[in-house]
Amino acid sequence: EAYLAAIDQANPVINAYVAVTHDRARQMATASDARLAKNEGGALEGIPLGIKDLYATEGVHTQACSHILDGFRPRYESTVTANLWADGAVMLGKLNMDEFAMGSSNETSFYGPVKNPWRATGSNADLVPGGSSGGSAAAVAAWLCAGATASDTGGSIRQPAAFTGTVGIKPTYGRCSRWGMVAFASSLDQAGPIARDVRDAAILLKSMASVDAKDTTSVDLPVPDYEAALGRSVRGMKIGIPKEYRVEGMPEEIEKLWQQGIDWLREAGAEIVEITLPHTKYALPAYYIVAPAEASSNLARYDGVRYGLREQGKDIVDMYERTRAAGFGDEVKRRIMVGTYVLSAGYYDAYYLKAQKVRTLIKKDFEDVFAAGVDAILTPATPSAAFGIADQELASDPVKMYLNDVFTVTVNMAGLPGIAVPAGLDAKGLPLGLQLIGKPFDEETLFATAHVIE
Ligand code: GLN
Repeated sequence: EAYLAAIDQANPVINAYVAVTHDRARQMATASDARLAKNEGGALEGIPLGIKDLYATEGVHTQACSHILDGFRPRYESTVTANLWADGAVMLGKLNMDEFAMGSSNETSFYGPVKNPWRATGSNADLVPGGSSGGSAAAVAAWLCAGATASDTGGSIRQPAAFTGTVGIKPTYGRCSRWGMVAFASSLDQAGPIARDVRDAAILLKSMASVDAKDTTSVDLPVPDYEAALGRSVRGMKIGIPKEYRVEGMPEEIEKLWQQGIDWLREAGAEIVEITLPHTKYALPAYYIVAPAEASSNLARYDGVRYGLREQGKDIVDMYERTRAAGFGDEVKRRIMVGTYVLSAGYYDAYYLKAQKVRTLIKKDFEDVFAAGVDAILTPATPSAAFGIADQELASDPVKMYLNDVFTVTVNMAGLPGIAVPAGLDAKGLPLGLQLIGKPFDEETLFATAHVIE
């Protein structure tokens, strides 16, 4: 009731929720009470969560914040949310996001921007919460849920976590089932939590992760007790500092934050080593070929026949065209056009195939570093703190917005786990985050190391 009241009060301003499921929350909480009374409570019994709008929730708003999915209510539950409910969690509602998870500021949502609960000291200017999981990050930061589900294709868990002073982890590709998650770029998409601290993130990921016959890319490995890893020492661990991440024009406060993180880990007994990931500079351009290519294919299903919106047309092709023209926002259309172009017969080899080769090289860079004994890699999470809503410079040049992902996309391209952890405030009092990148399926090392930083 306290969370529902807080949502009703703050959401008209913050816009983190696009649907609040009051009745469902109360029913689930009542059922939780009954289980707790019988001492049958699960790991998340009674814990109220917000769910990103791209997770299928049976009978409840699931539109990936797109107009084209107007009125769509799935008949089934995603595996990740089903896992959470099986552990006793309670759903508060569906969280705002960039349309189809395409964006870094939550401004491409059909439901309007989300306001970051943080503001610069002495300023009334509204800031973005990051994206695409902007609603998830803002809701956690503003105490409008105890934790949230999010998803990360190129940084969408880690960047909004960094912009809101919260913790977000993108686990290894395959750790969570993608079944029932609206697809953006299927070879990059992963589920993960955003939470108030590392412990909460560990508890949530444990519940979300599972192998699932309905997602053949989910991996059949036991899910460790992540919370137990928080007690581990980092003494003797080797932490890599990739020199290629010292990008040109990096603000001094980000440099300082990174150095601070290095110092903390060294003081805790870790060994700091300089490493090289030589193909880093190709990651962003390769990502912005691979992700739109997969998106253009995944989004072909929205044709006005099977889901949501349908515009009237004089024949079926005209109906498709009118529905897609009205239903998709500008950024989604841009991705579909780029993706269709790079997959087209004359350009496939020059763009898509080339980008896939680059992706293999990026993955190999990481494999080499881990084979040389590095346990985890420390980088900044983002190249800046949260920026203003409707920033003119960013709005006029989509490529500038894409630069937000410079530290995060490599991790998705390589399928590795990455965590963003709050590490301090900038000169204006805004939160900044550090990122730790780990070996495949070694989320435990990330939780242990992030716990030393937080
Ligand atoms: N900002 C990136 C993009 O727009 C990543 C989004 C995401 O991780 N879903 O593609």
